[in-house]
Amino acid sequence: MLRIALPNKGRLSEEARDLFNDAGLEVRARGDRALTASLGGEFEALFVRAQDIPEFVADGAADAGITGWDLICESSRALTPLADLEFGRCRLAVAAREESGVASLEDIPAGLRVATAFPRLAQEFFEARGCPVEIVPVSGAAEIAPHIGIADVIVDLVSTGSTLRVNGLREVATVLESTARLVVARETMTATSADGRARARTIEELVAALQSVIRARGKRYVMANVPRTALDEVKRVLPGLTGPTVIDILNGGSHVAVHAVADARSIYRTVAELKALGAEGILVTRIERLMA
Ligand code: AMP
Repeated sequence: MLRIALPNKGRLSEEARDLFNDAGLEVRARGDRALTASLGGEFEALFVRAQDIPEFVADGAADAGITGWDLICESSRALTPLADLEFGRCRLAVAAREESGVASLEDIPAGLRVATAFPRLAQEFFEARGCPVEIVPVSGAAEIAPHIGIADVIVDLVSTGSTLRVNGLREVATVLESTARLVVARETMTATSADGRARARTIEELVAALQSVIRARGKRYVMANVPRTALDEVKRVLPGLTGPTVIDILNGGSHVAVHAVADARSIYRTVAELKALGAEGILVTRIERLMA
C-alpha cells in the first residue's frame, strides 16, 4: 500500500483531507492524534509537518506528498510536482516597514538584513538581482523583526495581506507564487522495476482522481427544457465540454431537454440567459468528478 505524506495541521491540512474525501478516498484515522490513517483503504496517509514533507518524500519514507510549493522550493530536494491542487494559494513576498522609505526593490541596498523562514529562497532572490543580503533566519513571526531592529526587511508568506498591514509593513516585491502540489521523488515516475512501474501507475491514477475533483469544483451541470426553435442560441449560451446533449421529450415536440457542463463562475449569467431564451425547469447541480 502506497504511503502519502499529508500536512498534520495548518492551512493545508484540512483542504488536503477534503480533497481525498471528495475523490472517494475517505480519511479514516484511529483517533485525533493518530499519525497515520487509511485513505479509503487504497493508501496510507502519514501526517507530518508541512515543512518536513519534501524530506520525507525525497528520502522515500513516503511515496508521494502534498505540501506548499514554497516549502518544496525552499527544501531544494529532487522532487517532481505532478499536480497543482489549487489550494493554499499565497505568495512569498519582500516587505518593509511602511515608514522605512523602501517602496521597491531598487531601494534595498546590498548588505541589508532580511528576516525570513525561507533563507534559501530569499538569498537566491537577492543574489539573482546582484544584491547580496544578510539573512536573519527565523522560524515564524518574521513580521516583528523590522520593528525590533533585528532586520531591515522580511521575506514572508502573504495571503490576503492583512498580517502585513496590521504590523505596519508594506509589500515591496514577490519572490514566488505558491499553491499546494502533489510531489514524488524525482526517480519515482521513471522506475524500471516491476514494483516501481506498478507504483508509478498507482500514483498516476491518484493524480487523475484528484485532478478530476479539482476540475469538477469549477464546473456545474445544467439541465433545462428549451424551445426547439431556440436551440442555436442555447448552444451559444451552453457550449458544454463537447456541445450540449439534446434529448427529445416524450409527448413534447415544441421543447427539447438540454444537458451541459458549464463554468461555475458564470453560472448566474448562464441561467439568466437560458431563462431569457424561454428555458423551463432549469436545474443546476454540482459535479463530483470530471475526468479529462
Ligand atoms: P494574510 O494575513 O492573509 O496575508 O496571511 C499571512 C499569514 O499567514 C503569515 O503569517 C503567513 O505565514 C501565513 N500564511 C498565509 N498563507 C499561507 C499558506 N498558504 N501556507 C502557510 N502559511 C500561510
